[in-house]
Amino acid sequence: MVNEQIDNALKCLFGAFGRKPLKEQIDVYMEWADAYSPDMVKNIVTQAINHEERLPTIAKLKKIAMSLLGMKRSFSNNDYDDCWICDSTGQVPALSEPTEFNSVHHIRNYGCKCSKGERIGISGYFSKYDNLQFEEEAKESPHMNYPQLVEFIKNQRNKEMKQDTNNWLETQSVIIKENI
Ligand SMILES: [Zn+2]
Repeated sequence: MVNEQIDNALKCLFGAFGRKPLKEQIDVYMEWADAYSPDMVKNIVTQAINHEERLPTIAKLKKIAMSLLGMKRSFSNNDYDDCWICDSTGQVPALSEPTEFNSVHHIRNYGCKCSKGERIGISGYFSKYDNLQFEEEAKESPHMNYPQLVEFIKNQRNKEMKQDTNNWLETQSVIIKENI
């Protein structure tokens, strides 16, 4: 039954792009589809048919799957036991630019919208921001939960900033040496 659903979805996919798949070809797609639930395969196929101009490769289908999973994660987060936005701590990090008081990119925590976040009693992230600050990046990084991603971006930006400063200092010292 399950197989039949996947089979139909794949037939639909090839049909929509006017292709009669070779047996070997359908086998490869079947093998790919094996990693997903029949509903998920159906969603991916629908997405591909609506947005792709030619028969998507497996690599393309994997990308579509990833973006679908990313979107799903952003909108279903009532269960705090498994909240990827706050890593089930109730706190969502927001990244701030350097200020005159703090010379590096730094993090402030706000309350999450999951039940754990509601109980934690700090000001709510989503009353301050409409969307996650790094929603796009989060979709592209399904292997990290949101706090990990923000931490990662913070470190990266601070590193870049330090590099810029070092480059600037180097240039200055070269100028000074040349002047001596
Ligand atoms: Zn949460």
